[in-house]
Amino acid sequence: MSEPRAAFISHADCGRHDTGWGHPEHVGRLRAITRALRNDLDLFGAVDHREGRHATIDELALAHDRAYIETVRDVAARGGGALDPDTVTSDGSWDAARAGAGSVLDGVDLAFAGTIRKSFCAVRPPGHHALRARAMGFCLFGNVAVAARYALQRHGAQRVLIVDWDVHHGNGTQALVEQDSRIHFVSMHQWPWYPGTGAADDRGPHRTIWNVPMGPGKPAAHYVEALWRAIDAATADATPDLVLISAGFDSLRGDPLGGFTLEMEDVDQLTRDLCTRAETWCAGRVVSALEGGYNPDRVAEACVVHLRALTA
Ligand SMILES: [Zn+2]
Repeated sequence: MSEPRAAFISHADCGRHDTGWGHPEHVGRLRAITRALRNDLDLFGAVDHREGRHATIDELALAHDRAYIETVRDVAARGGGALDPDTVTSDGSWDAARAGAGSVLDGVDLAFAGTIRKSFCAVRPPGHHALRARAMGFCLFGNVAVAARYALQRHGAQRVLIVDWDVHHGNGTQALVEQDSRIHFVSMHQWPWYPGTGAADDRGPHRTIWNVPMGPGKPAAHYVEALWRAIDAATADATPDLVLISAGFDSLRGDPLGGFTLEMEDVDQLTRDLCTRAETWCAGRVVSALEGGYNPDRVAEACVVHLRALTA
């Protein structure tokens, strides 16, 4: 049997963030992904299955205020509650949130260890709306932003590229990374749409942000081409040492919270093309983390397609 080329990283605690079945970001999303992966026996056997770890408070503090981190911990310890009109927590949310962030950090560790350079982290809560000191939009901690800063600080990366194809602007990621010119952030998102940020002329203080606002309902190729133009611009004179993907599958056609039209073939091709670029940039280091996506069966199918492309 050949060596696995990609890891599938998750953590049982990600299922302990109980938002209720009426909430779009419910635990059934992860269960659907696991089920779909088990139903694909070839792929299931081809990936390295790893249980992630909990990020430490020091690691979360790479991107978040300590007082906020402690608030999340304390609210969960009291049984949970709403941190934002959209963002509810339960007693398991602290463990879930630090397992989600820690799983992505494990992906970064693997990528830099050089054994398995690609991974997909099936985590929740998602992260790309979380701000330095505030929960927002179903997100508690900026999993990908923390991972980018961790790669710089702990692994000596000089440059990190983040590609966010969630249908919503990664406003939290932008806020957490835009002060650091070593991190280039590309976000394609529906416009105008939640959360209202992400205009094309919002380039950040170092012009290291590439926002790609797009109207809904266009042919899928328009989204893919626009995203590639931004990735090309973001890497024109800055070769990344690591590619992080904020893999939001609410950009698929039919998502209840978005109007984009991507199909499975687009997820497959985007992933393969990004991996090809990553081979030339950085020995193929690609760590992808689940963000949004609210049709569980479609999200699960997309995760399988995405993971299969990562193993190619
Ligand atoms: Zn989203």
